[in-house]
Amino acid sequence: MEYRKKKTGSDTWHFCKNCSNWPTTDYDTRYDKPTTGELCDQCRAKEANKNCSK
Ligand SMILES: [Zn+2]
Repeated sequence: MEYRKKKTGSDTWHFCKNCSNWPTTDYDTRYDKPTTGELCDQCRAKEANKNCSK
């Protein structure tokens, strides 16, 4: 599972490819659960609704 965060202006990690804020340029990537920053509310809502594309 991939997590992405915009390098500039955000401490929010995304993990749903269908999140409207999923970073596609200028982002950091990691493959384990982030230990810094926040997890995106929209991604978490999608996960809870089983609507998260990973
Ligand atoms: Zn997100």
